[in-house]
Amino acid sequence: MKIKEVKVDQNLCIGCGSCEAFAPKAFELRDGKSFVKEGWENESEENIKTAQGSCPVSAITIIEE
Ligand code: SF4
Repeated sequence: MKIKEVKVDQNLCIGCGSCEAFAPKAFELRDGKSFVKEGWENESEENIKTAQGSCPVSAITIIEE
């Protein structure tokens, strides 16, 4: 399965920074919230999934083809 889209729900995000730490090419914190970066496709799928699993509030959605 290939990742087609990644989303962060900023209403849920508490800005813990975990996703950015595990997948720095895919996520960045701005003003205390995480956003999906342009070029997130360059991050490994494993790192993106690890980041999703690390999110304490389940704010990250991964859509696979
Ligand atoms: S891991 Fe979740 S709560 Fe933490 S910054 Fe990322 S999206 Fe926000």
